[in-house]
Amino acid sequence: MHELSIIQSVVSTVTEAMSARPERILRVRLLVGALSGVVEGALQFGYEIATDGTPLAGSKLEVVSLPVVIYCKHCEALREMEGVQSFRCPVCGTPSGDIRQGRELEIESVEIEEAA
Ligand SMILES: [Zn+2]
Repeated sequence: MHELSIIQSVVSTVTEAMSARPERILRVRLLVGALSGVVEGALQFGYEIATDGTPLAGSKLEVVSLPVVIYCKHCEALREMEGVQSFRCPVCGTPSGDIRQGRELEIESVEIEEAA
């Protein structure tokens, strides 16, 4: 499963980054672009498996879905796409291959338990 290997790399990245810190990890926020080709349900499923026995066990995975954004030369503006089927400006219809957002697959933030 593609998503499981993605999640395993997320878990090892966070584990490494947090290894020197004693706080408990509560939540990991992941940015997932519409073009990244991953399925949120599969990420959530993989997260439970991949975090088992790690410092991330019991934490939540929050997936933030990002739509595709193209730059339209005709409008000279960034335009958000409703789907991933065609890359045409939704305002003027000009095709654009200038994709500015939608391929993301990255950790945005890690929420930790506040020290009392
Ligand atoms: Zn346009």
